Amino acid sequence: MRQPLVAGNWKLNGSRERIQSLLDGIKAGIGEVNDAAVAVCPPFVYLDEVKRQLDGTRIGLGAQDVCEQDEGAFTGEVSAPMLKEVGCKYVIVGHSERRNLYGESDDFTARKFASVRRQGLIPILCVGELLIEREQGITEQVVARQLDAVIELEGVEALADAVVAYEPVWAIGTGKTATPEQAQDVHAFIRQRVAQESQSVADGLRILYGGSVKANNAAELFAQPDIDGGLIGGASLSADEFLAICKAAG
Ligand code: PEP
Repeated sequence: MRQPLVAGNWKLNGSRERIQSLLDGIKAGIGEVNDAAVAVCPPFVYLDEVKRQLDGTRIGLGAQDVCEQDEGAFTGEVSAPMLKEVGCKYVIVGHSERRNLYGESDDFTARKFASVRRQGLIPILCVGELLIEREQGITEQVVARQLDAVIELEGVEALADAVVAYEPVWAIGTGKTATPEQAQDVHAFIRQRVAQESQSVADGLRILYGGSVKANNAAELFAQPDIDGGLIGGASLSADEFLAICKAAG
């Protein structure tokens, strides 16, 4: 049995005041979420404060990105040891906004994944195709390439301590969700690909869906056999909406 996970990716949103009221709302309702693990991923500067607010709750803390280096002359970067020290449990790597807006490659993403694992943190590896790639019928090729970069660097066993998030880029922040069938097809493909290397890793791997998940479409997505929760962007900025999605996961 894979425990579902719902992680809120707040992206470049928030202020002290806004985060306070969002957290108050999530904490007030978290008792109604039964089985799903829940996490929030605030911008770096708020991690420490959010961690303090989450102490004593079952809500985990995640970061949205990480440096592939542990320390040194890398101005503007934040390392995995730092994220560990402030209490992160999860780190998103390879989000499509990093890949597409900041030109981060598969290899670079794999090195970030490795830096997260070195600290014993849980990487949430994002994979997913652009609209044009879906239209060209190469979705599986793209997702396989993104996944293989990590497997080649770290070995398939590295996925035993990781989470994968399938996020079709055309569905992120667009209000256009993949249908449950479209999402399930890619999730099943990912699991099969991992199973080619290790059936037990594949069986235990949590694969989240991300891309315009809302309270009104979460249940049918999460009901798919290979969808183990969600990575939630826009809807994670509303406590009610986020909690409803968490409840739909279990
Ligand atoms: C995301 O940023 O990972 C995401 C899925 O965003 P949204 O839910 O807004 O599409």
